[in-house]
Amino acid sequence: MSEKPESAEMIDPFGRQVSYLRISVTDRCDFRCVYCMAEDMVFLPKKDLLTLEELDRLCSAFVDKGVRKLRISGGEPLVRRDIMVLFRSLSRHLKSGKLEELTVTTNGTQLGRFASELADCGVRRINVSLDTLDPAKFRHITRWGELDKVLAGIEAAERAGIKIKLNTVALKDFNDAEIPGMLRWAHERGHDMTLIETMPLGEIEADRTDQYISLASLRAKLSDEFTFEDIPYKTGGPARYVQVRETGGRLGFITPMSHNFCESCNRVRVTCTGTLYMCLGQDDAADLRAPLRASEGDELLKLAIDEAIGRKPKGHDFVIDRVRKAPAVARHMSTTGG
Ligand code: SAM
Ligand code: SF4
Repeated sequence: MSEKPESAEMIDPFGRQVSYLRISVTDRCDFRCVYCMAEDMVFLPKKDLLTLEELDRLCSAFVDKGVRKLRISGGEPLVRRDIMVLFRSLSRHLKSGKLEELTVTTNGTQLGRFASELADCGVRRINVSLDTLDPAKFRHITRWGELDKVLAGIEAAERAGIKIKLNTVALKDFNDAEIPGMLRWAHERGHDMTLIETMPLGEIEADRTDQYISLASLRAKLSDEFTFEDIPYKTGGPARYVQVRETGGRLGFITPMSHNFCESCNRVRVTCTGTLYMCLGQDDAADLRAPLRASEGDELLKLAIDEAIGRKPKGHDFVIDRVRKAPAVARHMSTTGG
């Protein structure tokens, strides 16, 4: 028989090895960031979501197939009920050495409750999204969030010994002038920072062509104040990092719009309903929930994963359409799990 061994790694048609999975555990969130969600978002019925046990099975199948880095995302992952059960269970793959990193992207509101338990489950680094340090602007961008709660969450993570990277979406005329101050604030606390360009994902009320600012121009502006040295630092994600001479910290740039990073893409995403997206910027997807639920074993699931990886596209073709003003991809970032 010429059956592939079950543990075969995932190599796509362009020879890229898939070793990084981002999985969304919920589409819900306690914020409604204006670039991410509409105010009146309709969330999925709970029955459509994978259960925590199914999420564990799915992640574990990917770990068997060569995933070394697993990022839990959302929506806001830490608002999912009993989410620590999943972290606790997945931590066995860290202990066995099969998984190198278990991490999370969060808005920080629940870190006060969960930071020490996350650390206990082997979470060493987390991404916290923070777009401004001004409480009024914070309320505006999240539609109702309290900055103090997030800052307290960040402090709890610091106390738990978790390394923090701040993710900041660069938004024209909103936070571009504030970024030098935020960079100093982050680096004084020993946190890396990454700037992200807005991506055209999902219908929102705002006009994205008004929000978009190219990181190339922002970087040029920041260079008046800071000296950047390109460094080969990599976290397995798409950011390109520089060392900032004045602060001694690292700054990353994620530039899907102005610089295509697809050639080194090593990751796939799964939604909270078990849909596998081989590319953040393309619509092609594979349903993993049906094979997951069809049997207790993982053979069908792993076959479906193999089949999907076999059509991972070369890259995305995002464009913020100035004529139609339509998103390039209809689903929201909170669905695919940023
Ligand atoms: N709720 C968590 C958080 O905010 O960190 C995790 C999910 S959120 C969708 C993940 C990341 O995606 C956040 O850093 C957020 O700022 C970013 N994001 C959301 N919508 C985006 C968009 N349209 N363009 C670029 N980044 C976006
Ligand atoms: Fe929620 Fe994160 Fe989206 Fe903001 S960016 S609405 S915190 S999922």
